Amino acid sequence: MATLEIRDLHVTVEADNATKEILKGVDLTVKQGETHAIMGPNGSGKSTLAYSLAGHPKYTITGGTVTLDGEDVLEMSVDERARAGLFLAMQYPVEVPGVSVSNFLRTSATAIRGEAPKLRTWVKEVKEAMERLNMDPSFAERNVNEGFSGGEKKRHEILQLELLKPKVAILDETDSGLDVDALRVVSEGVNRVRESGEVGTLLITHYTRILRYIKPDYVHVFSAGRIVESGGAELADKLENEGYEVYTKGGSVSG
Ligand code: ADP
Ligand code: MG
Ligand code: MG
Repeated sequence: MATLEIRDLHVTVEADNATKEILKGVDLTVKQGETHAIMGPNGSGKSTLAYSLAGHPKYTITGGTVTLDGEDVLEMSVDERARAGLFLAMQYPVEVPGVSVSNFLRTSATAIRGEAPKLRTWVKEVKEAMERLNMDPSFAERNVNEGFSGGEKKRHEILQLELLKPKVAILDETDSGLDVDALRVVSEGVNRVRESGEVGTLLITHYTRILRYIKPDYVHVFSAGRIVESGGAELADKLENEGYEVYTKGGSVSG
């Protein structure tokens, strides 16, 4: 079973000619089939964790390790990470002029599976996945992210997730900016992938709202660059009632 292991991860960014440490020793293990939620106040470093795992050049790893099935993720290029089975929803935030959703998905699937999916079954697979996500068939012919609304970007992320079936998926703020209907559709997509038992999911969110639709196996509270508490789904209820203040009071946190 695939396992993503993050050990004592330290990450800095350059801002205003100064080096700022954002992640201060993150420890987390996500196994295939498990759903983990990372929750925390704005500015606590949640997206920095996601970008660091994605290999974004702006983020410098200054300590710690990240492995997928024992393989050093930090040594891998962005493409190699995808081929190894890591899916990062923010990996393709940019517009890709002249590349349709349909071609983009097939190219990605080819890279990850090591061979091109058979065209006939592939077209059917894409069509069915889009139907499940209430997406208009014409969406497949649009250029990637060109003029996509917030909701369309999120649906496109979930479409990739369903079709590419990674070992571990990292979804950063997948719920933000979605109305209730879109939130339900996106959550159902995540739950379908989850039920396959083949994908480990790291759901990063500021809000407890999405956790009414996706029940995580584990909830981690993120504050000031590290995980300060871990628990089961009940921890999300506690956060919904009490907020993050208890973790941020005084500016410093001791786990
Ligand atoms: P969250 O996702 O929890 O809201 P972020 O990871 O976005 O938190 O940000 C954590 C801290 O790191 C913030 O103080 C933010 O300003 C800083 N930071 C994150 N990315 C950058 C960047 N690319 N350049 C400068 N500062 C950054
Ligand atoms: Mg440390
Ligand atoms: Mg963020």
